[in-house]
Amino acid sequence: MSAPDERFNRDLTQQEPMAEEAIDAAVRVLRSGRLHRYNTAEGEAGETALLEEEFAAWLGKKYSLACASCGSALFLALKSAGVHPGEGVLCNSYTLAPVPGAIQKAGGIPILLEITEDLTVDLKALESMAAMGKSRFFLISHMRGHIADMDRVESICRKYNILLIEDCAHTMGAAWNGRKSGLHGLVSCYSTQTYKHINSGEGGLLATDDPEIIARAILHSGSYMLYDKHTSRPPLDVFEQIKWEVPNYSCRMDNLRAALLRPQLRELDRQVGRWNERYGLLEELINHIPGLQCPNRDPREAYVGSSIQFSLRDHDAAAIARFLALAEEYGVHIKWFGSPEPLGYTSSYDSWRYLGPCPDLPKTRQILSSLCDMRIPLTLSLDDCRLLAQCITRAAQKALC
Ligand SMILES: *Cc1c(COP(=O)(O)O)cnc(C)c1O
Repeated sequence: MSAPDERFNRDLTQQEPMAEEAIDAAVRVLRSGRLHRYNTAEGEAGETALLEEEFAAWLGKKYSLACASCGSALFLALKSAGVHPGEGVLCNSYTLAPVPGAIQKAGGIPILLEITEDLTVDLKALESMAAMGKSRFFLISHMRGHIADMDRVESICRKYNILLIEDCAHTMGAAWNGRKSGLHGLVSCYSTQTYKHINSGEGGLLATDDPEIIARAILHSGSYMLYDKHTSRPPLDVFEQIKWEVPNYSCRMDNLRAALLRPQLRELDRQVGRWNERYGLLEELINHIPGLQCPNRDPREAYVGSSIQFSLRDHDAAAIARFLALAEEYGVHIKWFGSPEPLGYTSSYDSWRYLGPCPDLPKTRQILSSLCDMRIPLTLSLDDCRLLAQCITRAAQKALC
């Protein structure tokens, strides 16, 4: 057991090393010299095409496309689903900066929706915007892995003829009511960036059952006239009809990244168990600290606890700042969504000033003002998690009295 005043000395940005199997696969690609996805030898599918097949099979969608990032996958999803220039796209206001960025890049205008204390989109706000006919699209972002009631989201979208696109950057391996996250939308997008659930440095995956959307996404991603090399694709005549009119936006993945990801995909379910062991422990310990509350999680939500959030909703900004400074002294760096300046990986809607006048979202503003956030890398042992919670407890006892 740790001493009562022991300092936390782990780095919350430190992920696990690549498994030897992934390193070997990457070295094979390096030795071959064929890093570009279309640079395949006779009879060889290539790591990227194989990753797409395996990912689609794992998820349970017909088609998948590997991309340069989740942000670029979201952009391709919106373009391929037919967002027109100047068209509104509904989106929850609590999300990461690349999400409104992808909407803007696709020519859309983000219409940000309020969230709830449990960090999911406010379904009443969604329904009232939908009823006003504000948009044909809803890009739902399962920010930090918090999944809204997807049965209701689907029924609202059906009722108002809204196309659902899912940002599953933090829900690869999660599920709602027994269905994998990403199976509810027309298109779903995943991240393979270092801080998500499988790690290739940068990277993204898009998945859909729709033959025309995947054909457009493949062409948009920069397939030149080599789309026949994709194996996760519809028949070639689907491409024949549209290949002249779909611009190449160059957002491909390469074989090196795909080689790193294939073995990780096979390990994902096991890793999810390890994340949730750590999350469950931290959640219980943090919920016991007076003044700190983790969001409620619906029993239908099978989440991946790769990060944890908690609110200090009964405390003002000065007390929260004191608490964070003390935690820092004890070696724990905690992110605060209410910080007056956007720092690090920004996710406060009021820092996206290119969107024009800041929308009035009083509920979201209030929730974010006391919301804290930490990553849970798998390099933390359960004892590390206990020490982490102990340091947070000490900081809270001193700062919040
Ligand atoms: C990381 C993240 C993204 C973007 O992923 P990249 O692969 O870095 O482009 C999008 N949405 C959410 C919620 C994320 O956490």
